[in-house]
Amino acid sequence: MIVGGGPGGVVLAYLLARGGVRVVLLESRGDFDRRFRGDSLAPPVLDHLDRLGLARPLLAEVPHAKADAFAWSTARKRYVLADYRSASAHFPFYALVPQARFLPWMVDRARPYGLDVRMGARVTGLVRDDAGRVVGVQYTQEGARHQVLADLVVGSDGRNSKVRQLASVAATELNSSIDIAWIAMPRRDDDPPLSGLELLAEPGYNLAVLGQGDGWQIGFTIVADTFGALRAAGPEPLRALLRRRVPWLADRIDLLTDTNQLTLLPIRITRVDPWSEPGLLLVGDAAHVISPVGGNGINFAIIDAAEAANRLVGPLTAAPVDATTVDAATAEVERVRRPKVDREQAFQVRVERVTAGRLAAHAEPRPALPLRLIATVPGLARWSARRAARALAVPPPDPRILAGVATTAGG
Ligand SMILES: Cc1cc2nc3c(=O)[nH]c(=O)nc-3n(C[C@H](O)[C@H](O)[C@H](O)COP(=O)(O)OP(=O)(O)OC[C@H]3O[C@@H](n4cnc5c(N)ncnc54)[C@H](O)[C@@H]3O)c2cc1C
Repeated sequence: MIVGGGPGGVVLAYLLARGGVRVVLLESRGDFDRRFRGDSLAPPVLDHLDRLGLARPLLAEVPHAKADAFAWSTARKRYVLADYRSASAHFPFYALVPQARFLPWMVDRARPYGLDVRMGARVTGLVRDDAGRVVGVQYTQEGARHQVLADLVVGSDGRNSKVRQLASVAATELNSSIDIAWIAMPRRDDDPPLSGLELLAEPGYNLAVLGQGDGWQIGFTIVADTFGALRAAGPEPLRALLRRRVPWLADRIDLLTDTNQLTLLPIRITRVDPWSEPGLLLVGDAAHVISPVGGNGINFAIIDAAEAANRLVGPLTAAPVDATTVDAATAEVERVRRPKVDREQAFQVRVERVTAGRLAAHAEPRPALPLRLIATVPGLARWSARRAARALAVPPPDPRILAGVATTAGG
């Protein structure tokens, strides 16, 4: 039983179903439509999807942008901080695949393996046995109450996880110091060939310019809790900023008529202890909210899913299923994944503090010495991308998952 059809839940559902596990996926929303989410699939994640035979059809069928570099620019100079062109043999780029397209695409690939997806199904409670072990969930769908029992409940229900609230785990906020306000702009064929992962630094602002299939996603990075002031100042300061730093958007800037058009992403960095209890496992944002610094929320969720599927496919296909073995496997997921998450969160807290300090001081942006070196010493930007890719290494799929046989056409 998987609660939450974001990237973590949907990829886990696919992998377990393909490995022969009977999977029910409960998603509270009626569809997968969503905007302004982490859409950037990293080279190692694309390699993983390729081992499953999915990456090439995904990229062929779903419109997306490709970013072969991550760049940071002041008004004077553009610094390429990571050059992905040697980060993977087959996928030397980040693919910016909107979640609204990626998620239903993955679900369609999982259905032939027997995945049971229930949309509009909001989990409201956990079912426990006499010993306190989680053995299922209660949910509501179209006003009716339901209950499903399961050998394991996985909470992949995001940053405000209901499953996490119902479980015996503690969530600690690590004091994120920035927020991001997003707006979408249409893309024109003659727009400059930016990498799709661009940060433009200005005194008082950082602008993120992310490529989407048919548009640009523009993010204004601001000091935490200052969104009210940004909105109260009206659209003109933001329009002036765009005119100054993204002049080729000039013909579209007037589409920003009201700061109510901005969507706020309050950044959070949340540590969760522990990720599991008997009968229950948390993955993705439910287990660890990470900041968009680095753009890897979606990748961390998918890597959790890959690790969890490998550990769980054996225990969950055993007959009978042994609860102790399942619980040992869920503890292993945290043991393997947690150090990487902890390192990423500690790095993000440091980067955010420096960023917020400079934004608040309206300081002239200047990359730190290590970043200047990466951008100027030949080969270092490629090394930096390969190093980042190693931190996102995905375990190869368990042979039982690879051997999965679809039970209906289309798998
Ligand atoms: C508004 C928003 C904007 C974001 N923007 C960016 C960004 O710009 N860059 C970036 O790198 N990252 C961004 N992120 C983070 C990134 O999208 C996440 O890290 C990533 O999607 C995590 O995947 P997940 O599967 O763990 O959770 P999610 O993608 O959050 O999916 C959780 C799913 O669970 C469902 N759900 C919730 N409660 C229940 C319930 N009770 N019952 C059943 N289902 C439930 C939700 O509807 C949702 O579909 C953003 C996140 C949010 C929420």
